[in-house]
Amino acid sequence: MTDCLFCKIANKEIPSSVVYEDEKVLAFKDINPEAPVHILIIPKVHMDSAQDIRESNSSIMSHIFALIPKLAKDLGVDEKGFRVITNIGEHGGQTVKHLHFHMLGGRNLSWPPG
Ligand code: AMP
Ligand code: ZN
Repeated sequence: MTDCLFCKIANKEIPSSVVYEDEKVLAFKDINPEAPVHILIIPKVHMDSAQDIRESNSSIMSHIFALIPKLAKDLGVDEKGFRVITNIGEHGGQTVKHLHFHMLGGRNLSWPPG
């Protein structure tokens, strides 16, 4: 999508602090971290949110979730644990309309969320 912030980050039109990249996904540091470790994992292909996931495009989900344990190890949060979140729509608190998974760790995270 032409006017999408995370498409621009995926295309390197806007710089980001990349922690992992392959042909399908990009993981980069959140610009406003809520925890010592806070990265965002995005598919390079635009999808508005997890509400756009269908059987036909769901292979990106297994790709992302197979990557998470490896990223957790690289980021040093695999032993103590961490959280993976995707916000969807207005009530979900989604501010950037390109599917992304927050990966948060490095401190004790409270639950439930606000
Ligand atoms: P959400 O509110 O779930 O849509 O999350 C969007 C996230 O994107 C927020 O945590 C922001 O801090 C983060 N963010 C916004 N702009 C950038 C950027 N240019 N680089 C990295 N992270 C960003
Ligand atoms: Zn996009």
